[in-house]
Amino acid sequence: MYGQNYPSRQGFGQRAFPAANRSASPFRKFRFIIGLLMAGFALLSYFGSSVYNPVTGEKQHVNISAEQEIALGLQAAPEMAQQYGGLHPDRQARSLVSQVGQRIVSRGAASQTPYQYEFHLLADEQTINAFALPGGQIFITAGLFRRLQTEGQLAGVLGHEVGHVVARHGAQRIAQQQLTQGLTGALVLSTYDPENPNSQQTAYIAMMVGQLVNMKYGRDDELQSDALGVRFISEAGYDPRALIGVMEILAEAGGGARQPEFFSTHPNPENRVARINEAIEQQFPGGVPAGLQP
Ligand SMILES: [Zn+2]
Repeated sequence: MYGQNYPSRQGFGQRAFPAANRSASPFRKFRFIIGLLMAGFALLSYFGSSVYNPVTGEKQHVNISAEQEIALGLQAAPEMAQQYGGLHPDRQARSLVSQVGQRIVSRGAASQTPYQYEFHLLADEQTINAFALPGGQIFITAGLFRRLQTEGQLAGVLGHEVGHVVARHGAQRIAQQQLTQGLTGALVLSTYDPENPNSQQTAYIAMMVGQLVNMKYGRDDELQSDALGVRFISEAGYDPRALIGVMEILAEAGGGARQPEFFSTHPNPENRVARINEAIEQQFPGGVPAGLQP
């Protein structure tokens, strides 16, 4: 047994082994075993962490708490804002974005979630996009904002982003990344140099924040967020058909040479409008009632 060769773990990571012995030492074997154990642990913790989401009605692999999602989102928010010119200087426009967002999350299913929602208008006039970080930090660029024609359309964009938060798409991505990093981490450990310990924890968090800021969701995540957006804005009294208007505005903006970024981060399958219509029918089987805010 390896444990008989190395009865104590205390030497690990310290200078218990003279440098000359390191390459020849069965200590390598020991690190390899630890690496395998870590890989096993990463797999177990990923597939062992199945959490029920009461809003979507699905089970999902998520291994961080809502509080951790909120903390990570808050940590990544300044970097996200900075990438798009910071917050927009127009106070009135910023407060409209915030009010519409808060109306969506204060009514209906989204109000039952533990997240701390904040809605930010970014100064970037060129980029046409909107984003959501885990935990409730939501952003829309001025480039997209100024193209919208109704409050309902703004609600459509923000409702879609709230969908990403509630469906915990970011936390799902983090769990997937931890799975791959657990395996990579195992490799790192098996070649770990005890004489050169570095601050892996700090580097890891910085990397996670960087990944969150540049995160792209998958096609299924986008379609699910469209459907959740339809549901949330309907519950807040907005006409869900406004989301179709948003798709038309985006398609028009994409008519020229430059595609809106929204299309590159939000896959745009041909049937996206059709799927939104399906979601609207599901929300209102008897037809969309009159009196909803367009
Ligand atoms: Zn999206």
